[in-house]
Amino acid sequence: MAGANVYPSLSKVNWRELTLATIDKASAIAWCRQHGLLAKQMRCPECNGDMAEYERSTKIGFRWQCRDRDCKTTLQIVKNSFFEGTRFQLQTTIELLYLYSYEMASYKNVRRECGIASDETICNYRNYVRDIYAEYFVDNPLQLGGPGRVVEIDESAFVRRKHNVGRTVKTQWVFGGIDVESKEGFLVEVERRDAGTLLPIIQHYILPGTTVISDLWAAYNTVSNLGYQHLTVNHRLNFVDPISHATTNHVESMWARAKQRNKRECGTHRTLLDTYLFEFMWRLKFGDDPFQNLINQIRTRYPV
Ligand SMILES: [Zn+2]
Repeated sequence: MAGANVYPSLSKVNWRELTLATIDKASAIAWCRQHGLLAKQMRCPECNGDMAEYERSTKIGFRWQCRDRDCKTTLQIVKNSFFEGTRFQLQTTIELLYLYSYEMASYKNVRRECGIASDETICNYRNYVRDIYAEYFVDNPLQLGGPGRVVEIDESAFVRRKHNVGRTVKTQWVFGGIDVESKEGFLVEVERRDAGTLLPIIQHYILPGTTVISDLWAAYNTVSNLGYQHLTVNHRLNFVDPISHATTNHVESMWARAKQRNKRECGTHRTLLDTYLFEFMWRLKFGDDPFQNLINQIRTRYPV
């Protein structure tokens, strides 16, 4: 189709407006079409003829059927969309996306608001949404800093519960950085904290010309040879360097927030640390308008 599509804004849509707009199967389909998530027309895969939609007593409520009387091929109404293969009614999936995006998707809330009884199902769907966050950064590699900008870097030990191994915990090092101005950041699991591991990650995430601030960890010794200004803070002596006034307060605060959330979410149900870290990065970037951005990214990833 020619011309740019304009989709209604979702930035200020609240739970009441959303559930009213998707109150039954037909309106849920209309909502998805309005936001570019479901096809408005379909060509028959058998004869390339026009298809029409018919009401059916199915989970989604409608199916495509070829208009040709000799063909009559049928297709799911959600064929070739994000919703293909979903286990839920369309309106339930939309509600789940809303709750997950705004971090309102506790097991208790999802059970009550969406009528999903199984914790396993809720957890699986959460991981499914997390994949969208991770895929965003695969398609749009994050690059922080640039000339005149400051990025603070640091490593931190995360506790990681081993799945099915009772209370066993393992320490997992995470390397991260935050752009002091934009507040965007990266967090990456690392097996080692040596220069060979950390320097390529710095080069992947931080643009040349950036002022990089770190502690005195030896792995960072050659950062200034890589096209960055490098300032250091001696944490044993002070948290603000008396000469350069460099601090790592922003990255320290990022660790505190990431760990607090990780502890809350990984307590009893399995969560993979790396997908959790992608979600945290996603929230640093899109946390001010998460539902709109989630829907935008689904639309980009699953064009209809
Ligand atoms: Zn046909």
